[in-house]
Amino acid sequence: YVAKQLKNGAVIYSPEIDKSSQQNLSLLSDMRAALEHKQFRLYVQPKLSLHTGQIVAAEALVRWIHPERNFIFPDQFIPFAEQTGFIRQLTHWVMNAAAAASRDWQRAGLNIKLSVNISTRDLLDQELPSKFSGILQQHQVAASSFCLEITESAIMDDPVRAHQTLDRLHAMGMELSIDDFGTGYSSLAYLKRLPVDELKIDKSFVLKMEKNADDTKIVKSTIDLGHNMGLRVVAEGVENAEVISLLTELGCDHAQGYHIAKPMPASDLPAWLVEWNQHQTI
Ligand code: C2E
Ligand code: MG
Ligand code: MG
Ligand code: MG
Repeated sequence: YVAKQLKNGAVIYSPEIDKSSQQNLSLLSDMRAALEHKQFRLYVQPKLSLHTGQIVAAEALVRWIHPERNFIFPDQFIPFAEQTGFIRQLTHWVMNAAAAASRDWQRAGLNIKLSVNISTRDLLDQELPSKFSGILQQHQVAASSFCLEITESAIMDDPVRAHQTLDRLHAMGMELSIDDFGTGYSSLAYLKRLPVDELKIDKSFVLKMEKNADDTKIVKSTIDLGHNMGLRVVAEGVENAEVISLLTELGCDHAQGYHIAKPMPASDLPAWLVEWNQHQTI
């Protein structure tokens, strides 16, 4: 059974995986069962415009409600989903759930751009743009209502193919964002050539910037770099009011973090927004 899995390419064979292949195979079959039994949930986290004080966007973050292990966070299964290729099915599920949520919000009169995280494996899939375009059509939502967040390392794995896929997604009207900016290893010259609309400053630089002058310098330089390239700049990991005022001073465009809201079920967003607009304290 193990060998068959491997021949199918369903599992990448490596000594590291081999050590706990039994456990990993069970994780893979659990993930497949989770899709079938609808155990994945679409959570979203709002993004605040520091120019207007309005909530203008949100990020889709997947959660797995496991019957025995309860709430499983993405860091515990996304890396393995990427290794095994299961990520393609998961990304398809997430994009579909995101399109459904976006359509619901639009019907409720809300104008919220929704970001979806995509992985290396997704970018190597030549069919990705047509799959996404099918999902958008099915839910009757515009490509311009979505932004795709990709990490620098995901792009660098196979720059040529990743670039082609990104060009096609961008030509469809989807925005592109570089996630966790500053932690990857891509060259700025390469970034310059990608059809990117947004930079997301990694939360490791934002979390303690009110206490750490070096972090503040890095954040400031990244904001200036992004703006000089004509990009929108988002700070993630905003946990307190001091960071919000610092970011506003530095001209950062959007802020995302626990201080504004923790990720919540997508269906809770409209009610949360009503509440937030009434009691806005930021
Ligand atoms: P990410 O895309 O960089 O997402 C931001 C992460 O920071 C989220 O963790 C979010 O809950 C967390 N976060 C937000 N605000 C704060 C804050 O103020 N303080 C702190 N300490 N953390 C904050 P989460 O939801 O656990 O997701 C972790 C990572 O898993 C994501 O990082 C992303 O790389 C990946 N991921 C999540 N959902 C998906 C998905 O649907 N598809 C793919 N391919 N990856 C996903
Ligand atoms: Mg992200
Ligand atoms: Mg990030
Ligand atoms: Mg991350």
